[in-house]
Amino acid sequence: MISLTDAVIAGNEWKYVKECLDTTWISSAGKYVGQFEQMVAEFAGAKYGVACMNGTAGLHLCLEMIGVSQDDYVITPNITFIATLNSIKYTGASPILIDVYADTWQMDVGLLKRFLEKDTEVRNGKLFLKKDNRRIKAIMPVHVLGNMTEMDELLELADIYHLDVVEDSTEALGSSYKGKHAGNFGKFGVFSFNGNKIISTGGGGVIVTNDEALAKRAKHLTTQAKVSRIDYIHDEVGYNYRLTNILAAVGVAQMEQLEGFIARKKFVNQFYRTELGGISDITFQKVNDHIDPNCWLFTFSTAQMRPLLEYLNSNGVQCRPFWMPMNQLKMFKDDLYITENNHASKVYDTCISIPCSSDITDEELKTVVEKIKEFYKSIG
Ligand SMILES: *Cc1c(COP(=O)(O)O)cnc(C)c1O
Repeated sequence: MISLTDAVIAGNEWKYVKECLDTTWISSAGKYVGQFEQMVAEFAGAKYGVACMNGTAGLHLCLEMIGVSQDDYVITPNITFIATLNSIKYTGASPILIDVYADTWQMDVGLLKRFLEKDTEVRNGKLFLKKDNRRIKAIMPVHVLGNMTEMDELLELADIYHLDVVEDSTEALGSSYKGKHAGNFGKFGVFSFNGNKIISTGGGGVIVTNDEALAKRAKHLTTQAKVSRIDYIHDEVGYNYRLTNILAAVGVAQMEQLEGFIARKKFVNQFYRTELGGISDITFQKVNDHIDPNCWLFTFSTAQMRPLLEYLNSNGVQCRPFWMPMNQLKMFKDDLYITENNHASKVYDTCISIPCSSDITDEELKTVVEKIKEFYKSIG
């Protein structure tokens, strides 16, 4: 089986983890945590990084820190992984789901603008949804597949409507918009190091911010809000959201290889676009000129998605459909979904992700293309 996205353990992972075990610095106080935080922040062009146990926890914490709470709203795209929505629900807030562009599959900022103009109201520097007078506090863009939406326009709206921005950058380590790396556009950005992400610690995350006070507060809240080094004195309800030294050690080794991983992902992306372009109705995700994506997970659209998925999965090529749109999940079906043409539904019905590990071989790439061609030939 050619797998969809493998973690690639090819550097100093064993060496650094062994050092943690040999020295018994396995928990969260070891040196690799700080080193990993710094490496991720530096790579992302942010001033500060705070490690946490996974991306979901990081997103939750960021929403808490900007004061999202019971009965508030957070604006987010209808196409995303469930973790985005879960992090919103943990605070007691509800999502407002915005449909995506048909071609880039990112949150439709024009649609967002029309919604804000028509259905919301600013009073005393606060934004309210007209129909129920509940506060809308934040907007959480998601850089779906490492691509990005129109960030300038989005930030302008955030400014006009007094919304804080937390970026779900979990898929976008290595992606930038007009030369600025993902994660730096709002108060916080969050990266994930889950098993399938561009680098992995098995599970893990880093919150980035350019505000020193917010970085300190994030560290404080991820570590049970302990005030003093010796005494057990805590000044608020905190979380045990830390990343362990062992996992941070893996992360440091992964960061050392990141440039190479991104280069390979970009090669794979170009290879598939060249080899699959023009076959049947295959269309690729549009990437606007001013965006430099990390090409994390190669995905294309075809009306034959379901039979193709079945064919490839039973012929040695591991593939996946896209996430079910959030408004179609039973937990969120009653939440507000802003749409004109329900592009999310079409994206879900047609998109398929194909193998693109950072260590996929040229031979494997050719096999994937062959199998796809075989499929289209078989259906005529
Ligand atoms: C991976 C991912 C997350 C969550 O990250 P975890 O580290 O798995 O908790 C959140 N949002 C999106 C869009 C993701 O792809």
